[in-house]
Amino acid sequence: MTFASRATPGVAVTFREALFTGLAPDGGLYHPVESPALAALFSSFDDSTSFEELARRTLAGILSPELAEHDVNQIVVRAFSFVPVLRRLDDSIMLLELFHGPTCAFKDFGAQFLAAAMEHLLEKSERRIQILVATSGDTGSAVAHAFFRRRNIDVVILYPSGRVSELQEMQLTTLGENVHALEVAGSFDDCQRLVKQAFQDSTLRERLRLTSANSINIGRLLPQSLYYVFAATRRGQLSGRAPVMCVPSGNFGNLTAGVYAWHWGLPVRGFIAATNANDVVPRYLRSGRFLPRPSAQTLSNAMDVGNPSNFERLEEIFRRDWRDMAAHIDGIATSDERTLATMGQVFRSHGLLVDPHTAVGIAAAKSALDADPATRSGQIVVLSTAHPGKFADTVLRATGKNPDLPDRLAACLRLPRRSLKVGPGFAELSRYLLDSFG
Ligand SMILES: *Cc1c(COP(=O)(O)O)cnc(C)c1O
Repeated sequence: MTFASRATPGVAVTFREALFTGLAPDGGLYHPVESPALAALFSSFDDSTSFEELARRTLAGILSPELAEHDVNQIVVRAFSFVPVLRRLDDSIMLLELFHGPTCAFKDFGAQFLAAAMEHLLEKSERRIQILVATSGDTGSAVAHAFFRRRNIDVVILYPSGRVSELQEMQLTTLGENVHALEVAGSFDDCQRLVKQAFQDSTLRERLRLTSANSINIGRLLPQSLYYVFAATRRGQLSGRAPVMCVPSGNFGNLTAGVYAWHWGLPVRGFIAATNANDVVPRYLRSGRFLPRPSAQTLSNAMDVGNPSNFERLEEIFRRDWRDMAAHIDGIATSDERTLATMGQVFRSHGLLVDPHTAVGIAAAKSALDADPATRSGQIVVLSTAHPGKFADTVLRATGKNPDLPDRLAACLRLPRRSLKVGPGFAELSRYLLDSFG
């Protein structure tokens, strides 16, 4: 598979190049140029196929001949020490739990694969690379854990002082070794501006090998297709019917990865784009007009995005034909009030605690079932994107129950915190980077 940006579709690059550059030289996102035909492969998977085997064979189908089977196997083994879990909620709805990785959110799938692929492809290299990321919370911890102890790679994470939760800060600052946390006296926007400036600075570009790991990197997107393949090929659990996939969405990377898998031949009956009050995509699906606006704060804050960057990738898959997109994707927005009510109801009916992002997905699935009873003849698979323990306050408010914090998260609260305080000016960051890695 090769990749190209929308502005220069004729200039295709390899997976390796897209991985290490992140963005195309023209500033655009990379889109897959080819669409591999994998329907036969997918139909060979069933309930007994392990996630690891399914990942190896699907990725080989996507990345060969650029990567040999041996390379793909190495990357998969190094990336996935955890698996998705498909469980039934009720007659019509199943949950695809994606929070069994090191930081308890689905972003572990993308971040771990990106880190493992970079580590493997750097094996024969003599120079180290430096991953530079700005975070407002969760993305940073998934990236920090993914790159921890990877050879030939240093990670520098910038986070806004006093503006991330205590747990998030501890996840970023207690790893140490090749993971360097910078506490910036400023806002998340300052952190992003500093990172952007660093990538444009000619001295830094000459003396360092700065690399980004942000969510638009194709190396984070492609592995997210794998759990759609996993869910839709568990035919026994699904009673033999192709499912509808319901995806709690913010920046729309997760949904895009599912639509890629469908495009490659995965039997899926359709998608639901489930959003909170930040509903620019559901509005687009109804009207054909894409009108980004400033994001609004909600309880499902990892989905508070007013201008989703992966929207253009979705548009490309459907050749910018909104009617075609709307024929395959249903957009449903859910208020905070209904999110809380859904969390309460799921707990009372099933004894299950779910986080607010998953609840937005469940609420959307229920709306779809109410609007179109025909949907009931199959299954809706709702992606469960985070562990409820990460959103304890909201879970307590909705259900009266305090969720457990998984041990792997709680462990960091007992470790010493190590971070370096820096100001919001670029000169200080530049000096730090040159002194540490130049
Ligand atoms: C990032 C995130 C989302 C949204 O995923 P996108 O790929 O940005 O649409 C949903 N839920 C949780 C818990 C997240 O961290």
